[in-house]
Amino acid sequence: MNFMYDPKSMKAEEFISHEEILESLAYADQNKNNAELIGQLLEKARQYKGLSHREALLLLDCELPDKNAEIFALAEQIKKEFYGSRIVMFAPLYLSNYCVNGCVYCPYHAKNKHIARKKLTQEEIVREVTALQDMGHKRLAIEAGEDPVNNPIEYILESIKTIYSIKHKNGAIRRVNVNIAATTVENYRKLKEAGIGTYILFQETYHKESYEKLHPTGPKHNYAWHTEAMDRAMEGGIDDVGLGVLFGLERYRYEFAGLLMHAEHLEAVHGVGPHTISVPRIKHADDIDPSAFDNGIDDEIFAKLVACIRIAVPYTGMIISTRESPACRERVLRYGISQISGGSRTSVGGYVAPEEDDQKSEQFDVSDKRTLDEVVCWLMKLGYIPSFCTACYREGRTGDRFMALCKNMQIHNCCLPNALMTLKEYLIDYASPETRKVGEQLIEKELTHIPNEKVRGLVIDNLKSIELGKRDFRF
Ligand code: SAM
Repeated sequence: MNFMYDPKSMKAEEFISHEEILESLAYADQNKNNAELIGQLLEKARQYKGLSHREALLLLDCELPDKNAEIFALAEQIKKEFYGSRIVMFAPLYLSNYCVNGCVYCPYHAKNKHIARKKLTQEEIVREVTALQDMGHKRLAIEAGEDPVNNPIEYILESIKTIYSIKHKNGAIRRVNVNIAATTVENYRKLKEAGIGTYILFQETYHKESYEKLHPTGPKHNYAWHTEAMDRAMEGGIDDVGLGVLFGLERYRYEFAGLLMHAEHLEAVHGVGPHTISVPRIKHADDIDPSAFDNGIDDEIFAKLVACIRIAVPYTGMIISTRESPACRERVLRYGISQISGGSRTSVGGYVAPEEDDQKSEQFDVSDKRTLDEVVCWLMKLGYIPSFCTACYREGRTGDRFMALCKNMQIHNCCLPNALMTLKEYLIDYASPETRKVGEQLIEKELTHIPNEKVRGLVIDNLKSIELGKRDFRF
């Protein structure tokens, strides 16, 4: 190796080294049929301590059917071991689609003159959030384009304050995650003070040259500023950050390596890796045709990507949105996904009112158009526990403290009870009669899986209290 690759470096091009990725790709390509080496890596991965980007890339490239079956089985096992059958629920909330950037895959790009530009007022936010609370959501991810004039940080902060302040019937948004453009340490500090959960920023692509072409204009054009954003976020005190790649823009093997190198960098520098990884795929949108991008991946490769991320970073939650169809979501839930959105609208103001044809503001088409109630019921019929839990963040279990909880396996005495209690709240306050019936049976069954007897007793008492009208129990 005669190039600069250093996971501890603070320079984007050194912790995401292009040459290191190329070498890793070549290594994986050479060994993709090496049964012995792949077997050794699987053995290592069975210790649940993860794999390096290079090792994981070899599993991703593996062409041996029996080893591939082992890879999927191991991903499933890790998923069960770390996350049980819980699936955390959330919804996106689009605040504004004003944007000064020129991202060629996104309809919010500044040159799009026909998309309706909208920005929610604080009164409109109250209406949107009330509608989300009436669906049963407790956790939101706020989304906005980058526009220092229309969407300055003060607007985002005010919106967060508004969202947390809305108490409607038994509803409350208990965790606001934020997906806004890369910003300064000072602004990240302000977001932290506003009480955000995870700061999410998709890298879109780790390939610098492509990145610059795909973001030809606007502040997002700056690859280093974007790629080093998570370091600034952590410097600003945000413990939980969420990574992601927009699959379809670049070759998936390259992105996979970059994503894991980014996770390794955060672990090396800040002592804690990403809280979540998202795996969006490019979708049709207003003036965007996904077939114009050459690197689309099929469902088969998508499932393998999810499985290999699960194996490489067992402690990192994985998120899938309504960009994916119910069938695709069902498949990848098995191999690693731990959070999904439900009942989502990707337009500004879309939860209150459907948009007229000439007033569309959507960011992309959603494939899973079911209501939250339908998604919750479907999950439970598949044997999953939809969880509306936000306890960790509210108990200060973020960053390394959250990771410690996972590593001590206390997750079963903590997360399972919290999932059951928040599901119970959902069933009583929002569910349809069918969903409620399915849910009550599930809770009965799942109670027996709480390992600690004392905890189980407390949960049973709390469930009774929830029936009597009390809310917001948590461990
Ligand atoms: N403007 C912020 C930024 O620059 O990160 C916020 C992100 S935007 C509201 C959320 C994400 O949607 C983007 O990071 C991008 O990955 C994704 N996205 C944009 N266009 C898309 C499309 N056509 N299909 C699917 N996802 C898309």
